Amino acid sequence: MVNSGGLKIYTNLNLDIQRIAEEEFAKADIFKDHPELNGAAIVLEIKTGKILAVVGGRKFSSSDQFNRAFDALRQPGSLMKPIVYLTAFDNGISPNKMFSDVPREYFDPWTQTIWQPQNYEGRYHGPVILRTALVNSYNIVAIELLKEIGVKNVIEYARKLGITSQLRETLSLALGSYEVTPIDMAKVYSVFANSGQKVNFSDIRKIIDNNDIEIEKYTYNTENIVPASSVAILDNILTGVVRNGSGTRARINGRTIAGKTGTTDDFTNAWFCGFTPNILVISYVGYDYPKPIGEHCSGGRVAAPIVKNIMERIFKKFPERFAQEEFPVPDDVVEVEICRESGLLKTDDCPYTVKQLFHKGDEPTMLCNFHDPDVNSLITKDTEELKLFFQEPEKQTIMSPYGIDSNTKKDDSSDSLKKLKNELKFFGE
Ligand SMILES: [Zn+2]
Repeated sequence: MVNSGGLKIYTNLNLDIQRIAEEEFAKADIFKDHPELNGAAIVLEIKTGKILAVVGGRKFSSSDQFNRAFDALRQPGSLMKPIVYLTAFDNGISPNKMFSDVPREYFDPWTQTIWQPQNYEGRYHGPVILRTALVNSYNIVAIELLKEIGVKNVIEYARKLGITSQLRETLSLALGSYEVTPIDMAKVYSVFANSGQKVNFSDIRKIIDNNDIEIEKYTYNTENIVPASSVAILDNILTGVVRNGSGTRARINGRTIAGKTGTTDDFTNAWFCGFTPNILVISYVGYDYPKPIGEHCSGGRVAAPIVKNIMERIFKKFPERFAQEEFPVPDDVVEVEICRESGLLKTDDCPYTVKQLFHKGDEPTMLCNFHDPDVNSLITKDTEELKLFFQEPEKQTIMSPYGIDSNTKKDDSSDSLKKLKNELKFFGE
């Protein structure tokens, strides 16, 4: 309760959870060597609409009252990508659709310049299915997908989901080039946590005036924003991000957690948003002025451990309120075990498979022919690159020896891309 000019304000914040969030944020490893580095964290309870904890910075004091959780506008980097993918899944694009992750140049009509986006660590991975591209946060595929579904379309979804800051109609939108606040991003991801339902989150429970009359009371309500089926397909992939993608540092034993990393150019901002069907924790780390945090200070390394530590302590403290829960699978969605490389139905010859959700009727019906021993021998005879590209994509790290160095092999790779594209037709893309 806060006394303010005779008004009694009761908050939704939970003191235990607020303390946990403050402590775990403050003691993050990254702050030990970076005394001026700052950031924010927010904890939301999905099923009550309560903002349970808000960390507005490392040391909230009279000299620092800037609440970064609500007011800091920062580039989100790849934290933006799930909005692009959700728009795609909701507009008829399948999570096993094949895209080429190769160096490309784009003309930006707004700045009238040629733009050469890079993948993290400058590595490219050739033909990949959308699932793999999102799990590993490949930039080129996100841009190609944005191009295919249309920038306007994605901005419309971003607005519906809860982004209130300025977004421009450029391809760099896919890589999170436009600034957002942590609270807006938390609200967007809360729709993913809540099967497409938007919740009216609040940190205020009620306000009572000096005559003891209740003048404001929070009531939980939800609004259906996106079909549950499209969100389920996205969540299925975002659990893969934490299980074996860019967000493995947020893994907690015995828990199903979905999430996404965000890292901006030169490691200036590092983000992670993790969620279950009932709790969401977002963390952002960065300076208050434009300055890189440091080499390799990605969202996965810097922000994911903060989210993990906060969640882990909340789960321990409130084991029933935040019990383990799987993401719901709506009736109009089916789970199919696919080959991670071809995106087609798995066979006994497929080395890496994954259970993927599809809109009913949109699931693959063809068996994988990438790993058919007869077909495979045909392919490798014609193109050795194709075989190299198809080595274990989802487990492949950014340091993969199969990636192409964008600076040295550009021409070669676009040639091999043409070849690969022709080959892909053969697979019935
Ligand atoms: Zn296969």
